[in-house]
Amino acid sequence: MLLDAIAVETISTRFAALSWQQRLAALSEWNESAVAFSTSFSFEDQAITHVIATQKLPIRIFTLDTGRLFEETHKLHQATREKYNIIIETYVPDAAEIEAFVNKNGINGFYNSIENRKECCKIRKVLPLQRALKGVDIWISGLRREHSDVRSNLGAAEWDEGNHVVKLYPLIDVSADEVWKFIKENNIPYNPMHEQGFPSIGCAPCTRAIAADEHPRAGRWWWEQGEQECGLHMVDGKLTRVKNA
Ligand code: SF4
Repeated sequence: MLLDAIAVETISTRFAALSWQQRLAALSEWNESAVAFSTSFSFEDQAITHVIATQKLPIRIFTLDTGRLFEETHKLHQATREKYNIIIETYVPDAAEIEAFVNKNGINGFYNSIENRKECCKIRKVLPLQRALKGVDIWISGLRREHSDVRSNLGAAEWDEGNHVVKLYPLIDVSADEVWKFIKENNIPYNPMHEQGFPSIGCAPCTRAIAADEHPRAGRWWWEQGEQECGLHMVDGKLTRVKNA
């Protein structure tokens, strides 16, 4: 199946009638395409990993290890690998680029300016992501509409012109409560930090716990005003790693 921008509409229409688990299983029919799922070990990603692993779906699973993750995330990475007996392909940043950034800006220099923060995210996330997506036709992500107002119009599939892949969001219309119910019913391992005020967990220095009345993504890059994104997800040409629209 040749995947391109036109295929996105077909996939979106077809996905509308399926449950999120059926959407993942349906990808097996497109076995001529290289399909990869990126996990950050969020609760959404853990649910998707469970379905891929237990149904033995022909989908690569990869993660980006920025080198600044929480120890809890590493523990969950190892536990997930061992529980499901799967390889979670791990992409790390280029050592020379990290050294140059740190020597120029300091070990936590990303706090000093938005430019520095974007540069750090580029080195630690965006460039490794580009390596991970080489040869991939379909990129699965655990994004949900609830993640931000900017994502409220997002469909189940979109064409990513930058990476030349079709991006699929099987959980796009699924609520956090539904995902958590699935996790508890299936005894899926998850990050205990989710129960300590961290609905969204990224790099340790750039993630804080939030209060009950804050937006779920308010704890990411909390010191910045206006632009909060890491460059990983584009919607209609706009980066969507934002905590508030
Ligand atoms: S989230 Fe923070 S530590 Fe992680 S890559 Fe971005 S700026 Fe660097």
